[in-house]
Amino acid sequence: MRVGSPREIKPNEHRVGLTPAAVREYVAHGHAVCIETGAGLGAGFSDADYVKAGARIAPDPRTVFAGSEMIVKVKELQPTEFALLKPEHILFTYLHLAPDPEQTQALLASKCAAVAYETVTDKNGGLPLLAPMSEVAGRIAVFSAAETLLKHKGGMGLLFCGVPGVAPARVLVLGGGVVGLNAARMAMGLGAEVVVLERSIPRMRQIDEVTGGRVITRYSSMHAIEEELVKADVVIGAALVPGAEAPTLVRHEQLKTMKTGSVLIDVAIDQGGCFETSRPTTHDEPTYVVDGVIHYCVGNMPGAVPRTSSEALNNATLPFGLALADQGLEALKKDPHLARGLNVLNGEITHPAVAQALGLEW
Ligand code: NAD
Repeated sequence: MRVGSPREIKPNEHRVGLTPAAVREYVAHGHAVCIETGAGLGAGFSDADYVKAGARIAPDPRTVFAGSEMIVKVKELQPTEFALLKPEHILFTYLHLAPDPEQTQALLASKCAAVAYETVTDKNGGLPLLAPMSEVAGRIAVFSAAETLLKHKGGMGLLFCGVPGVAPARVLVLGGGVVGLNAARMAMGLGAEVVVLERSIPRMRQIDEVTGGRVITRYSSMHAIEEELVKADVVIGAALVPGAEAPTLVRHEQLKTMKTGSVLIDVAIDQGGCFETSRPTTHDEPTYVVDGVIHYCVGNMPGAVPRTSSEALNNATLPFGLALADQGLEALKKDPHLARGLNVLNGEITHPAVAQALGLEW
């Protein structure tokens, strides 16, 4: 198959749909790969790296789309890309169609087959193409917290890991899923005292096991949150209820019970956030202060590390992408998990949750 990857054009997006390592795998499977010039630069991959991996370099997105049967991207299509889609295209990328009727209409009108990373499933009921970005975000959350605690960053002037004779930071993680566990392990590794509040008891058992009991787990009740907030230097919001807005776990009036200069990192901001006082921020201006508590609510945390994020994303997407390239849409019949990724086909919505979210009949 002819596989193409254009340069991402969404503002501040530096990840790339195909890394040179992934290109090499596609080429080894007998596919022809075309990469837009400069597509990998933001993630540290030059055109020469792609040529070495076996790709052809195209001068513009039009050439990539026109010359490819499958398009592999990172972010949803941007309006200038809508007209480039054709009925014979398989589009494989993050789509997030539910809040985006304009893109949905464009995909329907194009009659292409659109497979969304975020709805591909695995045999454990997880979302394997979302998990790598949650791993990245959970780990970055701890770096960002440690930095924000510094005095010149507005924090209380606390060294995250402490020193002999002085206690380290106390980190409260709300939600022990992929983000939460990665944040907890990272914070534990840096020497912090870590508490995770969760609703799932099996998940708390798992956290207890993988951290050798060094991370404290507590059932996430209003009572436990109140008790823990008072003691925390850092709170990481990572709770998610599938298909719903993030639960509001910390109310505005509770901020005054917290330490001045403590830090809230709301990783769940992309789903509305876990704190009533959260509003989305950017890497350029990541923090603001409410009642003496510093808020960090960056919606695209993995965007800070496009090199790592691109490689982690490609590791996860590669087997599915290769199956699509090898077998075309037949791959969806053979793999029900990949089939759940199909959101649009022949001008129709094919995913029930996406149809419902867009208010369409299913
Ligand atoms: P996940 O489904 O793996 O984990 C969510 C966890 O929250 C689950 O274990 C669930 O039991 C728990 N939970 C639900 N209700 C709770 C409650 N009331 N109290 C405590 N825990 C509760 O999800 P994830 O992959 O860890 O993602 C978490 C959030 O981070 C999502 O909103 C995701 O979109 C977001 N995210 C943001 C970024 C970013 O850049 N800001 C990047 C990746 C993921």
